[in-house]
Amino acid sequence: MVLLLADAFASDLPQRLSEFGTVATEMAKLPETEVLIVRSKTKVDKAMIDAAPRLKYIIRGGVGVDTIDVAYAKEKGIAVDNTPEASSLAVAELAFSMMLAMPNHLVAADTSMKEGKWLKKELERTELFGKTLGLIGIGRIAREVASRAKAFGMKVIAYDKYVPKSDAAEMTTLENVYRNSDYISIHTPLTDETRSMIDAAAIAQMKKSVRIVNTCRGQVVVENDIVDALKQGRIAGYATDVYYSDPPQNSPLQTAPNILLTPHIGASTEENLLRLGDCIVDRLKKYTGK
Ligand code: NAD
Repeated sequence: MVLLLADAFASDLPQRLSEFGTVATEMAKLPETEVLIVRSKTKVDKAMIDAAPRLKYIIRGGVGVDTIDVAYAKEKGIAVDNTPEASSLAVAELAFSMMLAMPNHLVAADTSMKEGKWLKKELERTELFGKTLGLIGIGRIAREVASRAKAFGMKVIAYDKYVPKSDAAEMTTLENVYRNSDYISIHTPLTDETRSMIDAAAIAQMKKSVRIVNTCRGQVVVENDIVDALKQGRIAGYATDVYYSDPPQNSPLQTAPNILLTPHIGASTEENLLRLGDCIVDRLKKYTGK
């Protein structure tokens, strides 16, 4: 069988997958492909599925299957899988890096030094110690963020529509998370319920000093409302790894003040690419019975 690796994975993965069949990396092989393996970049839509008449199995190396037309795949008898267990540490470390970078002005400090400026007075920092972190969603990634925040002496509260209790955080209402948090880190999947959740009305309930971290999905916030809030000083910062589109197209986020942007690299650690490989090999062992 032909296995098509459509996105970037660890360099040893093609060799590891060769025990299951012929491994291809060019989209030209799509018509012969039985197993399609993607990360976030390749969107598996109707047109792609129609172009792959032999397709039986789609594996997404990552959390969630929102980049795949699952309903259409099912209609065509194609199984869809993902690897939610692999990426938690990598994403949590990026979210926490953002929480450290914003109050320490790491980007502005570095940029200004390289421009020959000495902004010692201007770049006054604040500490994470004693601050409240509000998590939205208390799943795998959020729990890793919570344990890092506790190690820094933060109070951790959380709202999760489907998880009333957790050892990782003090569970509370969404309104309490909005009202009491110095940092808000969002860790829900993108669903009809979470789409546009962080809009002007949600921001109006938050502290003006809040810094928001988004490593889940761009569509969970209303980007224009975030930009307006940053410009008006209604929030103190927004750090995001995710956008309405990858990469963002002329997004107002790119010129907003107090913003920290990364190019959807939450899962892109060396270690995580190896873990993704392990998960994909596991999935294929089950699929082939090997
Ligand atoms: P998870 O399934 O373990 O946790 C998600 C949590 O969100 C669950 O506890 C769920 O109950 C909760 N939730 C669902 N709907 C909610 C709602 N309406 N309100 C509040 N909580 C709600 O998932 P995870 O592994 O922690 O991943 C979270 C998200 O992170 C993924 O869905 C994905 O979109 C994103 N992600 C991004 C990257 C990246 O590269 N930046 C990488 C991996 C995952």
